[in-house]
Amino acid sequence: MSISENLKKIKQSLPAKVELVAVSKTKPNSAILEAYSTGQRIFGENRIQEMVDKYDALPKDIEWHMIGHLQRNKVKYMAHFVNLIHGVDSLKTLQEINKQAKKHNRVIHCLLQARIAEEDTKFGLPFTEIEEILSSKELEALENISITGLMGMATFTDNTEQVKGEFTKINTLFKKLKTDNKEFTTLSIGMSGDYKLAIECGSTMVRVGSAIFGTRN
Ligand SMILES: *Cc1c(COP(=O)(O)O)cnc(C)c1O
Repeated sequence: MSISENLKKIKQSLPAKVELVAVSKTKPNSAILEAYSTGQRIFGENRIQEMVDKYDALPKDIEWHMIGHLQRNKVKYMAHFVNLIHGVDSLKTLQEINKQAKKHNRVIHCLLQARIAEEDTKFGLPFTEIEEILSSKELEALENISITGLMGMATFTDNTEQVKGEFTKINTLFKKLKTDNKEFTTLSIGMSGDYKLAIECGSTMVRVGSAIFGTRN
C-alpha cells in the first residue's frame, strides 16, 4: 500500500483525541510530502541534523517533533523551530533546552522519558527521578520550557501482557502527575507494532513510522 493509503487507514483507526506523529526518520522529503498532501502535519525525527535539513527544505506549517535521544550540544540547532521534544531524560538537558529557547524568545514543550522497558538499552528516567525533577526548585526557574507530559517505549517483545503492563504503569504515573501539573496533557506511547495496545492503555499521542512509510534500511 502507498503512504497515503497507510495513513488513511491508521487515522481512521485512531480515536479523535489521539494525535499521530508520523515518524519520518531516514525517509526522503518526497515521502514526507506524500504524507503532507493527505493533511498530515506532525512529523517525528530522531536525529537533530536530519530534522534541521528537512525543516529547511519542507513547508513551514509542519510541526517537527524530536523523538530520539538528545545530544545536548545539538539542541541549539533546532531551538528556533522544534514543536515538541519527546525524549528528555535529565534536568541538565532541560536547562540546555531552556537556555536555547530563551535566545529565540520561545517556550519549548518537552516530555520526560520514563523508563518502562526491561532492556537497559532503552533510555529514560526511573519514576522517582521524574517526580524529583517535577518538584525541583531548578525546574521552577526554567521559564522557556514547559513539561507537557511523558513519553515511553515498551520492551520489544511479542508478549502483549508484558507490553500492556508497561504501558499501564506509565499511564498510572501520568494520571497521578496530571493532578498536580496543569500543563500535563500528553502521554506519548505506542509505535507501529503496539499503538493499538497503547491507546487502550491511555495513550494521547502515538509515534508511527514503518506502518506508514514502510520498513527502514
Ligand atoms: C523509530 C521510532 C518510532 C517509530 O517506530 P516504528 O516501529 O517504525 O513505528 C517511534 N518512537 C521512537 C522513539 C523511535 O525512535
